[in-house]
Amino acid sequence: KYLQSPVKALRTPAFYAAYRSTSTATTKLFIDGKFMESETDKWIDLHNPATNEVITRVPEATQDEMQAAVAAAKRAFKSWSDTSVLHRQGIMFKYQQLIKDNMNELAKNITLEQGKTLADAEGDVLRGIQVVEHCCSITSLNLGETMSSVAKDMDTFTYRYPLGVCAGITPFNFPAMIPLWMFPMAMVCGNTYVLKPSERDPGCSMLLAQLGQDAGFPDGVVNIIHGAHDVVNFICDDPDIKAVSFVGSNQAGEYIYDRASKTGKRVQSNMGAKNHGIIMPDAAKENTLNQLVGAAFGAAGQRCMALSTVVFVGESKEWIKDLKERSEKLVVNAGDQPGADLGPMITPAAKERACRLIQSGVNEGASILLDGRDVQVKGYENGNFLAPTILTNVTPDMECYKEEIFGPVLIILEADTLDDAIQITNSNPYGNGTAIFTQSGAIARKFVNEIDVGNVGVNVPIPVPLPMFSFTGTRASFRGDMHFYGKQGIQFYTQLKTVTQLWREEDVKHSKAAVSMPVMR
Ligand code: NAD
Repeated sequence: KYLQSPVKALRTPAFYAAYRSTSTATTKLFIDGKFMESETDKWIDLHNPATNEVITRVPEATQDEMQAAVAAAKRAFKSWSDTSVLHRQGIMFKYQQLIKDNMNELAKNITLEQGKTLADAEGDVLRGIQVVEHCCSITSLNLGETMSSVAKDMDTFTYRYPLGVCAGITPFNFPAMIPLWMFPMAMVCGNTYVLKPSERDPGCSMLLAQLGQDAGFPDGVVNIIHGAHDVVNFICDDPDIKAVSFVGSNQAGEYIYDRASKTGKRVQSNMGAKNHGIIMPDAAKENTLNQLVGAAFGAAGQRCMALSTVVFVGESKEWIKDLKERSEKLVVNAGDQPGADLGPMITPAAKERACRLIQSGVNEGASILLDGRDVQVKGYENGNFLAPTILTNVTPDMECYKEEIFGPVLIILEADTLDDAIQITNSNPYGNGTAIFTQSGAIARKFVNEIDVGNVGVNVPIPVPLPMFSFTGTRASFRGDMHFYGKQGIQFYTQLKTVTQLWREEDVKHSKAAVSMPVMR
């Protein structure tokens, strides 16, 4: 029915009531195919970041509810893992279409709960759809390997099997894309899922669950539980959960990696960043400055791949004043207002922390070229707005350089040579993303080879890989062995079974048992 009239269907009050009770304005749990009110007595108020009005209350799921979600996923695994790969692929095709058809509603929900602009929220959904599209190629991705005649009359082949119940814990900054990095990849491999979205913006995950039902996800294949630390601990410890995917801060990610690994689970943990943009003097000036401004301040700097640090090499530092002019022209407003370039930060605490780090830079000797701390947004005086802010003369020993600010704050360093810029970047503990701007192939090639960062852009400011590749953050930005999506995502959510078979028309007669290691010649 959504295919015929998708947006209209989603706009009915009944649809919203499915994931949020209109009378009490609470967000529901999604367990075993049912949207249900939590019986908890612990609730987290969720505020619209543009106004700080409470828009819903998010439950901290009880032990019984968490256990019910895992039990439902465990039950569903039996039949789901037995479905044909074509069946799962077909559901992904439908799911992709339904998400596309309902893009506007998903984006509106993201803007309401997370604050980013509507255009940016659509980008969030689109990057998630691309992962679902990648899942549609499961018929190739899940192929094993074969070799006939590894020994006389003997063949060996591998199958990829799902793991069982998998779980995901997501951050607030991409409410569509990051859940979609997780459960579709797991599901299409035959696993079932328990998702704990960010307690600050779980609405988009609830809409995605509703669309999943419409696409044909059987009951229990995807379950959603809400909360904070208790749910996270439950996920790390529960013996029926076989793998945990995490995206978020280092504080949480390192803790989750350690705790979940201790119980024998596979864990992939994508964490914080401090992405350096390197500006060479031969870069195409206009394009480079535009790219920098967008990548530093878009989404109010709340992207793990934001270019939050720029290293101007040699004479390129002459462009800093042009960068300032462009940055101050950006329009700060509520995300649903026409013309808004950046919306509010997620919480008052996040804004306060960013302001404190800006001030620490000033106190430690940096210069404030553009100060967005006093911005007033008409009609949204209570929102968590911080306008673009630029600190120059920053050195690597300053707190504002060492900490991930995760706000619309650009830190500027200068270097004499490309080697110095590479050395600065490689000395930073994070290895999430970086980008160089140059017109020289030789410079770009040297940079790509020598930079110790996992996602590299050459004249591309936010090089988030498309899902046929994997998101390959390194060093302090990642813990685990297998990355999100791409081939590595399939490897993460499957285990290999290697079969060695012998078929011989006549059995060879041995006079006695062979006790030495078979070498299969
Ligand atoms: P966060 O770590 O505060 O929250 C992420 C999840 O972990 C949430 O679901 C939350 O409930 C849970 N959590 C938070 N603190 C916890 C704790 N102490 N113990 C257990 N669980 C905890 O992160 P956030 O503020 O939502 O997101 C921003 C962070 O995510 C930034 O550091 C950003 O760089 C990072 N991020 C990284 C990537 C990546 O791919 N590398 C992508 C997006 C965001």
